Amino acid sequence: MSFQRIKEKLNILADAAKYDVSCSSSGSNRANTTKGLGDSSGMGICHSYTEDGRCVSLLKILLTNHCIFDCAYCVTRKSNDIKRAAFKIQEVVDLTINFYRRNFIEGLFLSSGIFKNPDFTMERLVAVAKKLRMEENFNGYIHLKSIPGASDELMREAGLWADRLSVNIEVPTIAGLKLLAPDKRHEDFTKPMLKVKNEIIQYKEEKKVLKNTPKYAPAGQSTQMIIGATGETDKDIMYSANHYYKNYNMKRVYYSGYVPVAEDSRLPAIGSQVPMLRENRLYQTDWLLRFYGFSIHEILNDSHPNLDIDIDPKLSWALRNLKHFPVDINTADRQLLARVPGLGMYSVEKIIKARKFRKLNWEHLKKIGLALNRAKYFIICDSRSWERHDLQAHQIKGRILQNSQGKFRKNYSSQLSLFN
Ligand code: SF4
Repeated sequence: MSFQRIKEKLNILADAAKYDVSCSSSGSNRANTTKGLGDSSGMGICHSYTEDGRCVSLLKILLTNHCIFDCAYCVTRKSNDIKRAAFKIQEVVDLTINFYRRNFIEGLFLSSGIFKNPDFTMERLVAVAKKLRMEENFNGYIHLKSIPGASDELMREAGLWADRLSVNIEVPTIAGLKLLAPDKRHEDFTKPMLKVKNEIIQYKEEKKVLKNTPKYAPAGQSTQMIIGATGETDKDIMYSANHYYKNYNMKRVYYSGYVPVAEDSRLPAIGSQVPMLRENRLYQTDWLLRFYGFSIHEILNDSHPNLDIDIDPKLSWALRNLKHFPVDINTADRQLLARVPGLGMYSVEKIIKARKFRKLNWEHLKKIGLALNRAKYFIICDSRSWERHDLQAHQIKGRILQNSQGKFRKNYSSQLSLFN
């Protein structure tokens, strides 16, 4: 095979893979074995992002962009008139090793369109990972996409070679899936997810008894949802994400703003804006649920089914719940402090440490490096003044936006006279 043909395949199959954002490589701890190649232990693998926010830190390719399915939102769908290509197993192995040796990549993210059937495709993905581990002694990071509908046996094997597995749910609701991907059934996603979840648990249990039990998908499993292809609310999306975190032990759910790739009456028209800001708000919500002790119904519910675009979800929640504020910086527990807009977990830890030695006032808070432009409306400390006074939620929002650097300041300033 000529170098030119490999290059051509790489162009086609790397371009087709860019729509998948579920390639974060954190959380793996596969260490280098003697004389092995690569090491994904610790935080050795980092992420980088293209201009449009997509992760490109790994060699990120499809095995093929041939596909027997016709999912409306996908550039690889069989009805799309595009150039097609397919790598051979050995070609992907050679590319990975060559790129790795040249320091271009830290690992491999391998996905695929479905050729012939899910098992035929999954078998090839597994073969790439197995060859890298067994024949090339490769200890770098491997993220394999699991093909919806692949057999339990192949899913079991995939986890023995890969650091992370992911089955992309793509459309957040069953109704949306029926509309846009009628070839796929909901259980084609949930069955392999359940298998991976159970295998991870089982291998961990066995490891407690038998030290030489191999690792199974040590970086866990993840999934991705496309945002804005169908009419789901943010509540639909986040309730669905919450379900996958809780029931399938997902390490991460990724949210990918829909990039219009098809003229189709079921989808936003070509040229429509990619909802990047909405994507960002969903990630912030995801963060609040996983690390800040919020429950989903506090942030999204029937009376608030969509996130605000102009302010972050924590500030939005606080403005709707002023009755919980002010929080006393000198006495509030960690969980309450974490709910204050503008205070991240790092700031919360700084407060808890600093208040062991003295009662904190505004000067102390500034000295320990807290950014108070948002927090000052929601806290009291060892000083008499309190910024909120008798301000209403819309007035606080106006003041915060007026003083922020964000893109919403411009839109908001013309309305400020109403709030001050
Ligand atoms: S099965 Fe996957 S690759 Fe094939 S059309 Fe659907 S989303 Fe695209």
